[in-house]
Amino acid sequence: MHAASTAIPEINTALYKQALNVLKQSFGYDSFREGQWEVLEQALIGNDSLILLPTGGGKSLCYQVPALVLDGLTLVISPLISLMQDQVQQLKEQGVSAAYLNSSLTPEVAAATIAKLKSGEIDLLYLAPERALQPYFLNQLRQLNISLIAIDEAHCVSHWGHDFRQDYRNLGQLKHVFPDVPMMALTATADLATQQDIQYQLNMPDAFVYKGGFDRPNIKYNLLRKYKGYEQVLAFVRQQGNNSGIVYCGSRKKVDELSAKLRMAGIRCDAYHAGRESEMRELVQNQFLKDKLQVVVATVAFGMGINKSNVRFVVHHDVPRSVEAFYQETGRAGRDGLPAEALLLYDERDGARIKKWIADGSSPERFAVEMQKFEAMEAFAEAQTCRRQVLLNYFADYRDTPCGNCDICLDPPKMFDASVDAQKVLSCIYRLKLDTGAQHVIDVLRGLKHKRILEHGHDRLSTYGIGKSQSENYWHNIIQQLIHVGLIRIDMTRNGILCLTSSARGVLKGERRLELAVPKFSVTQSKKDKYVPSNVDSKLFEKLKALRKRISEEVDMPAFIIFSDASLADMTRIQPTTPSAFLSVTGVGEKKLESYGDAFISLIKEYQASR
Ligand code: ADP
Ligand code: ZN
Repeated sequence: MHAASTAIPEINTALYKQALNVLKQSFGYDSFREGQWEVLEQALIGNDSLILLPTGGGKSLCYQVPALVLDGLTLVISPLISLMQDQVQQLKEQGVSAAYLNSSLTPEVAAATIAKLKSGEIDLLYLAPERALQPYFLNQLRQLNISLIAIDEAHCVSHWGHDFRQDYRNLGQLKHVFPDVPMMALTATADLATQQDIQYQLNMPDAFVYKGGFDRPNIKYNLLRKYKGYEQVLAFVRQQGNNSGIVYCGSRKKVDELSAKLRMAGIRCDAYHAGRESEMRELVQNQFLKDKLQVVVATVAFGMGINKSNVRFVVHHDVPRSVEAFYQETGRAGRDGLPAEALLLYDERDGARIKKWIADGSSPERFAVEMQKFEAMEAFAEAQTCRRQVLLNYFADYRDTPCGNCDICLDPPKMFDASVDAQKVLSCIYRLKLDTGAQHVIDVLRGLKHKRILEHGHDRLSTYGIGKSQSENYWHNIIQQLIHVGLIRIDMTRNGILCLTSSARGVLKGERRLELAVPKFSVTQSKKDKYVPSNVDSKLFEKLKALRKRISEEVDMPAFIIFSDASLADMTRIQPTTPSAFLSVTGVGEKKLESYGDAFISLIKEYQASR
């Protein structure tokens, strides 16, 4: 499925050389990644294209390089203001003339930007879709020399996508206004129906379509059954040392709750959701970008605009509503290509709630689509085979070998004869006579002596204390599995009390043997408390990070914009002590050399002298 042909048609060799020059000088990279040249070549020769590349695959360069090779202006339509600001800041750091226009600018700043556009000083202009379509503004654009229109997050155009936006739907008009300007639509997630719809909606039926694979090999996928969400999240975050991460929750209320608890536990974190004031949201995002917050607890409202390349982990406290959403949200980890973690806490009881939301909230035409998408997500969570294979199969990116970098591959589920454990739970539920949730059943099994147990005489039941030898978490896990295999049902209409199903009988009477998976409580993790990429001098790496942090505070800019972790890791390998050697570090172009070369070279020299 990879359209990788490395042979370059002769007529385009000159263009190829120009593009490679721009890649090196402005962006500091020696070669294109898979797919990048194929795609940007189309823009350079004037063709429309639709690009599917995974997050972190390097989509931005697909239009940023042509923007610098071609005369004239490249428009980039992007859905989120914060993303534009980020990208423009990043480009300016690389010495590229870029600007954005959106509702956050004062009229004066906007007017100044428009003046610069007219004088041809700007190569890349980022725009929100509604701005791009304003008739007055379109007229101004018409007078400019536009060489390329890039549409980022193009799946937002389509009803079949998981993140449809009305403003995006109207972007098809651009083709009528600029029939001769090549258009490039980019997305990381689109199934076949969505791909076709993007082409249709954007009026580019003959577009060149590039499909890269979907795999993000540096992300390790983990799944744990959720029994105590907060404690599980806390334990996982603590395992991560100082690394940055995002924790997604299904509702605003949960976000506020979890964020407050984590803060109490000493985690530098804050909450982000659409219910907070926009200034607060901006502040949270900024502090996260600048590493002042380690963790953001958020609803899906957070993230599309997060360009931060050193997000090292993403946790889903609640199951997302589609595989696309899961893929996209976890995809925010590890954009720099270095190892990253994704953790999904799964409790099938969340499923009933989500299905109800879908039923209540969707129009009839969306209902079937959303329900199907959620069922695919449930199937992913419940699969007992390599997570990555299941995920990639969903996107028709078939792999026939297990990945070796997910919980199933690293620590395959072990089954055990759970007949006795099941009998303990089932008979306890039976004796409690249908009025308790999981926690009370567990407390009785474990022989606790609290008021409710004593008042109801539950300490006199024959099942009282028969599960003493196992932890509370163990029993939560067993109960979840019993729900999953259909021996227990949760009555959502009555406060989630547990009921036995008819299939419980056989097991309860000892007529049927039952196998369950041995409960797992934490993700298998390397021992290191701090993340250090492989094959680097970790002492020097820490020193370079400290220097980057100092500079980032001085110039008030996120550290990852100054240099990515990947660049620092490369510096420890190359240990450049001259400007030309510094230029050979990945991600170092001419502007970066000029801005930071001296400081980093001195540090490296000092380090070498001290050894
Ligand atoms: P996407 O938009 O597809 O999620 P980005 O454009 O943000 O991905 O790129 C992800 C990371 O990969 C960035 O840090 C970027 O600088 C880097 N990158 C992109 N292209 C190359 C390349 N040809 N060589 C090395 N690094 C690259
Ligand atoms: Zn796997």
